[in-house]
Amino acid sequence: MPKSKFNMLKSQLLKITEDYGSPVYVYDAEKIASQYKRLTDAFKDVKHLKINYAVKALSNISILKLFKTLGSGIDTVSIQEVQLGLAAGFLPEQIIFTPNGVSLAEIEEASKLGVQINIDNLSILEQFGTKHPNVPVCIRINPHVMAGGNSNISVGHIDSKFGISIHQIPHLLRIIENTKMTINGIHMHTGSDILDIDVFLYASEILFETAKQFKNLEFIDFGSGFKVPYKQGDIETNIEELGKKLTRKFNAFCKDYGKDLILAFEPGKFLVSESGNFLTKVNAVKQTTSTVFAQVDSGFNHLIRPMFYGSHHEIINISNPNGRERFYTVVGYICETDTFGNNRRINEINEGDILCFKNAGAYCFSMASNYNSRFRPAEVLWYNKKAHLIRKSETFDDIIKNQVEIDFKKEKVLTN
Ligand SMILES: *Cc1c(COP(=O)(O)O)cnc(C)c1O
Repeated sequence: MPKSKFNMLKSQLLKITEDYGSPVYVYDAEKIASQYKRLTDAFKDVKHLKINYAVKALSNISILKLFKTLGSGIDTVSIQEVQLGLAAGFLPEQIIFTPNGVSLAEIEEASKLGVQINIDNLSILEQFGTKHPNVPVCIRINPHVMAGGNSNISVGHIDSKFGISIHQIPHLLRIIENTKMTINGIHMHTGSDILDIDVFLYASEILFETAKQFKNLEFIDFGSGFKVPYKQGDIETNIEELGKKLTRKFNAFCKDYGKDLILAFEPGKFLVSESGNFLTKVNAVKQTTSTVFAQVDSGFNHLIRPMFYGSHHEIINISNPNGRERFYTVVGYICETDTFGNNRRINEINEGDILCFKNAGAYCFSMASNYNSRFRPAEVLWYNKKAHLIRKSETFDDIIKNQVEIDFKKEKVLTN
């Protein structure tokens, strides 16, 4: 963890909790911009590069607008994300719709809005192609490659629900021939943790082989899954090396294909994970017979990744950064086990201190819920050395507004 960069912001982070309360998510726009630049720099030798930020990682409209200023497009997985993208000012042609398991009706709705459709299922492809043979579509291929990580996040393997298997290409080609539809893009997304560049390059070879069978391609989309470090010593996707190696293969492919295609990516985590800090206040320090718990004013309702995926988020006591280090188990206030970090070495914690969770940009707020009838927290974007509130904390009205009360006085009382 580059501490210097972090320390620069520590006093600002404390000020933000004073101004906006706790818990609160804070995103550093500069970090997002520098990750975006790192990616585009790594592929600078590709003639037509297109980055489509994966909205589901962090879907606040101000974050989407920030990506628009950077020149990014967006990758969406629901019609609501498409609508959010349009509301943020993206043009339909800057949006790709890459859902899984949605209805034909939802795909048609997105198509009507003019966004690029990406289909990952032969049944839907056949129906869509029959009804709309003039709408060019992209197809999501499953190359059956395990790109590392655990089975929850490696979506390329044989039993995955994602993509059209490469073994089904003959059927796919028959559908295209019968419907006379046009395939303008070919796509893969092999999962959320690319540990090994060679595995990624191997999958890309399969994609190139497949691509040769389609004559009207405009782009090849290599998805994402780039890994960022969550703790010291973590493996990180070497994007610069991947850039060099994939660029060489891609440019060679385009030469053979006879056309300069667009090389597309759709990263979420890589672009926003490290920009995020989640700030919580310590409600209680509780000593048991075996451990010292620090209990913060949050839980897996706000940050589910540690409980859901076993993810490691660094936890730093920004109120007492020079205090003596001790071991703590950091937990939340939910009436259920909600451990954020087990047996962590943290600068001495006092009640009222602010703990900062690192890597809180991707899949943190966007997976938050109202469990225990708690409010979802505010979000702040640190931009141009100023804090900008980009989402207010919820209020009781948000909890109650869609609930419908039955007037039991007017009903017969249930008896047993
Ligand atoms: C979630 C998702 C992504 C983003 O994955 P990251 O690991 O966050 O980069 C990209 N493409 C598709 C289709 C996705 O579902």
